[in-house]
Amino acid sequence: MSEVNAVRPVIRIGGVQKIYRMGDNTVAALRGVDLTVLPGEFIAVMGTSGSGKSTLMNILGCLDVPSEGSYHLDGVRVDGMSRNQLADLRNQKLGFVFQGFNLLARTSAVDNVELPLLYDRTGKKRDTRAHAVAALERVGLGGRIDHHPSELSGGQQQRVAIARALVTSPTLLLADEPTGNLDSRTTVEVMALFQELNEQGITILLVTHEPEVAQYAKRIVVVRDGRIVRDHPVVDRRRAADDLAAMDVAAEAEAAGHDVQEAA
Ligand code: ADP
Repeated sequence: MSEVNAVRPVIRIGGVQKIYRMGDNTVAALRGVDLTVLPGEFIAVMGTSGSGKSTLMNILGCLDVPSEGSYHLDGVRVDGMSRNQLADLRNQKLGFVFQGFNLLARTSAVDNVELPLLYDRTGKKRDTRAHAVAALERVGLGGRIDHHPSELSGGQQQRVAIARALVTSPTLLLADEPTGNLDSRTTVEVMALFQELNEQGITILLVTHEPEVAQYAKRIVVVRDGRIVRDHPVVDRRRAADDLAAMDVAAEAEAAGHDVQEAA
């Protein structure tokens, strides 16, 4: 394949190591990780506690730098950048979604979503509010733009957070246990939104320890002891929209059952 026609990876890391030094001790959190993520992929990173997932996410998210190895994000070489350069790159190319939503509590949904645009130092003049409203409409919250987080359910708060991650049109959406604080139905709703966004072309990489959640991704990467030990496409991938429809049918059947019992 010629370089000219090759698809540019969203992420390309090679031989990434991360060594933490604590006094005389060193901890090798990552021990040589290679990973390439192409546009349109939807990857679930799995692994037990302590396997190195957070360290990997921090590096991919430009919050930390590798001790060894190379990192290219959307063709830009990241390793060796200064903190300010990393911050700009993060703002331009990455959207983040967290387990705890991380919304400002006394701030409306639309103001929360607008925030990353106000931090944008590229100097682009944009109608930031219109962009924030459009992002909220994209996640199905166009009718709740003035609500504060406390007036929204957990699933709705996570959708606001997803809108905030999308508002800058990032190259990659990084989500760290995005369903960790949600009940099972809301988890499937959020995964349905991720699948919809991915079908629209957004590249997603999420960390989860729930195998059911990983089944909604297209590819699973398993980390253990600071290395990728498995990397495979998802077989029998689930469609979250279908699972939601099945849940609705089951709930209706159950409600009908109660009606029959009450009538008897
Ligand atoms: P996971 O997210 O899979 O639970 P982490 O990436 O948090 O794993 O941690 C991987 C290893 O690196 C663990 O042994 C952890 O104790 C160690 N580690 C993580 N962060 C630090 C740090 N800031 N200083 C020292 N050791 C760390």
